Amino acid sequence: IVHWPFSATQRRKLNWVQLAGHKGNFKAADEGTILKKFSENEMQCFEKLRGDALLPFVPGYHGVVEKDGESFLHMTDLLANFDLPNVMDCKMGVRTYLEEELVRARERPKPREDLYKKMVEVDSEGPTPQEHSQRGVTKPRYMQWRETMSSTNTLGFRIEGIKKCDGTCRTDFKKTRSKQDVVQVFEDFVGGNVNILKSYLCRLMEIQQALKTSEFFKRHEVIGSSLLFIHDHTGNAQVWIIDFGKTTVLPEGQTLNHDIPWQEGNREDGYLWGLENLIHTLESVGNN
Ligand code: ATP
Ligand code: MG
Ligand code: MG
Repeated sequence: IVHWPFSATQRRKLNWVQLAGHKGNFKAADEGTILKKFSENEMQCFEKLRGDALLPFVPGYHGVVEKDGESFLHMTDLLANFDLPNVMDCKMGVRTYLEEELVRARERPKPREDLYKKMVEVDSEGPTPQEHSQRGVTKPRYMQWRETMSSTNTLGFRIEGIKKCDGTCRTDFKKTRSKQDVVQVFEDFVGGNVNILKSYLCRLMEIQQALKTSEFFKRHEVIGSSLLFIHDHTGNAQVWIIDFGKTTVLPEGQTLNHDIPWQEGNREDGYLWGLENLIHTLESVGNN
């Protein structure tokens, strides 16, 4: 039982919510900070972001720490300044796997029953007649199919999960694809609050501007990264760029547009196109 007044630690434990990833990947840390399971790639991103235009929009990074024999990235807990926050994780881009993952998945493309079952769970009509009869789908097929079910391919972003201040949590957005459906989810998320909506839009436009000038962004394939939306009843509303686990640097001299179609080999991620669509989506909330 937690008694009022809450200590900072208790408050943080009550606030903390993780909308994606494995549960064991995060640990609580000193006041206002969290630990995320170490990845070399993500660490390098945080270090390169230090002098970049995106710095004001990513969680504060406080280095690598060891705990219980494991390494972690120490970062600011973005929920710390909120009172009973509402949180949404929006995964950006027209695909959520790296080109190299697709190449690797094709190396031994044997039909897998676990992926077949996952596919059927989302859509019983997903598998082709042949896949149905062999009760198996290959990994590359599954990866590409999955992106067509959500709004990832069609809008360049998808909703991963939402936690509302009343404690309810939803991560069942695998088939939320149409703009109309996404608008509905946002409408419900902000509870029709126009000021929250305005703050979110304002912040998204600042992020859009920063992305357009960021050297880091130009030189990285940004895959599986999310925008984390957070607001509470006091009217505080923020958006942050999180998760650089799959953000990969391009070969020297190469850059991306982030708003032209992906064709295998061009490494485009559709991030800016997705952000533009996300902004238009939010602009439609309350207008229907
Ligand atoms: P995945 O790759 O499956 O998306 P992951 O293990 O890379 O997961 P993240 O996506 O970085 O983990 O974070 C998972 C969730 O944890 C986010 O959706 C968010 O709810 C929460 N989270 C992550 N970083 C922070 C942060 N700095 N402050 C507050 N919450 C965070
Ligand atoms: Mg993530
Ligand atoms: Mg990740």
